[in-house]
Amino acid sequence: MNEVIKDLGLKTPFYSGSSGQKNWLGNGVKTNIKSPVDGQLIGEVTFADNKDYERLMAEAQIAFPIWKAMPAPHRGEIVRQFGDALRQEKENLGKLVSYEMGKSLQEGYGEVQEMIDICDFAVGLSRQLYGLQMHSERPGHRMFEQWHPLGVVGIISAFNFPVAVWAWNAAIAWVCGNVCIWKPSEKTPFSSMACQEIFKKVLLANNLPEGISNLIIGDSTIGKSMAADQNIALVSATGSTKMGKSVAETVGRRLGKSILELGGNNAIIVAEDADLNHAVPAIVFGAVGTAGQRCTSTRRLIVHESQYESLLEKLKQAYGQLRIGDPLDQKNHVGPLIDTMAVEAYKNTVKTAQEQGGELVYGGQVLKGDGYISVCYVMPTIIKANANMPIMKQETFAPILYVTSYKDLNEAINIQNNVPQGLSSSIFTLNMRKAETFLSNSGSDCGIANVNIGTSGAEIGGAFGGEKETGGGRESGSDSWKAYMRRQTCTVNYSTDLPLAQGIKFDL
Ligand code: NAD
Repeated sequence: MNEVIKDLGLKTPFYSGSSGQKNWLGNGVKTNIKSPVDGQLIGEVTFADNKDYERLMAEAQIAFPIWKAMPAPHRGEIVRQFGDALRQEKENLGKLVSYEMGKSLQEGYGEVQEMIDICDFAVGLSRQLYGLQMHSERPGHRMFEQWHPLGVVGIISAFNFPVAVWAWNAAIAWVCGNVCIWKPSEKTPFSSMACQEIFKKVLLANNLPEGISNLIIGDSTIGKSMAADQNIALVSATGSTKMGKSVAETVGRRLGKSILELGGNNAIIVAEDADLNHAVPAIVFGAVGTAGQRCTSTRRLIVHESQYESLLEKLKQAYGQLRIGDPLDQKNHVGPLIDTMAVEAYKNTVKTAQEQGGELVYGGQVLKGDGYISVCYVMPTIIKANANMPIMKQETFAPILYVTSYKDLNEAINIQNNVPQGLSSSIFTLNMRKAETFLSNSGSDCGIANVNIGTSGAEIGGAFGGEKETGGGRESGSDSWKAYMRRQTCTVNYSTDLPLAQGIKFDL
């Protein structure tokens, strides 16, 4: 390998850990990073230790007053340049993401496109960080709210979206006037280094300090330090619910702010009147895309009993056409899981599901031999399930789809909501009453609810996130920016009196 990294124009010392000039290089343990695509060594990284973290925090704190002093539209201009730099590097960065994480090349490019899109969004937002103005009850008074930067924003991200989730957070945090410290997943450090390198060039070309964007490569030890650090005003953490609970507890103890984007267990309801020509490809893409390693992957299918057997047949046929293999080869639909631990989790889940009464109707095997040398490739799997199986309430990050049936819509909605997670959901129906019931307050309890599209593949314009054990955070579009700023309510008295609110008299 390393051709992919070289294509990006990044020299070997860039990731060797030896130059000491990069702001992410650490003094902790050395780790080899292998690609799940072919098992080849991508390179060695040296994890940061807590001293490295303190050094980076100092750089961030020096950069913050410089950055927040720039008018927001000027900060937007820097983010615009970053978006342009990403346009130039889309192919290289997309390839690197695909090779390091194992998602298809299309999805690797898509991830970089999402970064570009959020930069565009953030540029516009930089002129729209509006506060409201209220009517004061006191004569000659003006009351309004305004929004100020928070300070240092810590971003902890997961392996499955190695670059886009950072950009969702960072682009918005930056235009809001914050500086960022990013701890990417220890499983995908090279994609993050490439991003840092691209943004650093933009900063340096504008005579701005690199401390506006800081990268720290390390494992959960660094994540825990970030959660505990009073100097981080907001921790935005994306990952498993287990990680989120730990971060929430630590940040909560110091009354800090957090955005939590955690695990999902997403379902599609297929009604008796669904258009299966749309439902089938949406289900298959949702369940097997990114090898089932999206937080929004479709994990549960709740099918009206009248469609159950025929839909299962259609799905088996569609799964039979899937090509599994090197994700950089655009003919393939499904790439590898991230590592052999994920493969073990897949195998255990398939076994447990069968022990709990599930019937394996497709897949269930690990692929071996030519083209599967990394031993990270698994067969997309369909399991006929009973909605009460405990395993169905857990998120397994693999292409396993549980299919269950229902008689009436309320039952389907209950099955859908009866899990600890609440990220994404959808219904396929051509019946307006069913669609609106699903979207009503007695319908889906998820942060994302779709009609006639699948559960995955969100756009950046909406607020992204979910309820319950998904953490309740919102990122990306809509008014998610408000979480990255502090709100200040201001009252100005321009009268010649000093009236008190609620008519209280205090005469001296
Ligand atoms: P993970 O929880 O193992 O790791 C995520 C990040 O958290 C990594 O950077 C890791 O080093 C760090 N970390 C782990 N434990 C920590 C702790 N106690 N304190 C601080 N940091 C800690 O998750 P993963 O395997 O990389 O990613 C898969 C999970 O992420 C899935 O559950 C998936 O649903 C979720 N995810 C959610 C969203 C969302 O927006 N809701 C998006 C992507 C992924």
